[in-house]
Amino acid sequence: MLWTCWNNRCRPKAHGAPGFHFEADAPVCPKCKVDARSEERFKYLITPRKVIHYDPPHPAVDGVGMGYVLCSKTPIFEVTVRGGQVSGEPKAVNCPQCIADPEFPKDPIEMDPSRVMLLIPKPIPAPCKGCK
Ligand SMILES: [Zn+2]
Ligand SMILES: [Zn+2]
Repeated sequence: MLWTCWNNRCRPKAHGAPGFHFEADAPVCPKCKVDARSEERFKYLITPRKVIHYDPPHPAVDGVGMGYVLCSKTPIFEVTVRGGQVSGEPKAVNCPQCIADPEFPKDPIEMDPSRVMLLIPKPIPAPCKGCK
C-alpha cells in the first residue's frame, strides 16, 4: 500500500512540500517510525494514498490512451471500479510498479512519486472532544 506521513519532521527537504510518501504493508513511517495504529491521535498522521496508475499514450492517436494501466495491463474500467485512479500524465502517476516499468517515460527530472502533491487530500483533523 501507499501511505503519506504528515509528520513535519518527515517532510522531504528537496521540495519542501508536506507529506512524506512511502510504500509499506502497514501505516508505519520508515522515517519517524511512528505506527499510526499504536495511538488514536496518530490515526491521521499517516494516511493511505490513492494509487494513480499510468495509462500509456496510444501510438497513433493524440490525446488517447491505451485503455489499460501499464503495471498490470488491467483495463482502466476494472482499476477504477476497485478504487484506483488512472492518468495519462506521467507527473500525476504515483504507482511504483508503473513508474518502474521500462515503458514509463523517463523524465529529465528524477521521477519521484513524492512530486505528486496536487492530488493528495489533506488529512482531516480528529474532532476535539472537549469543544462540543
Ligand atoms: Zn514519518
Ligand atoms: Zn500501476
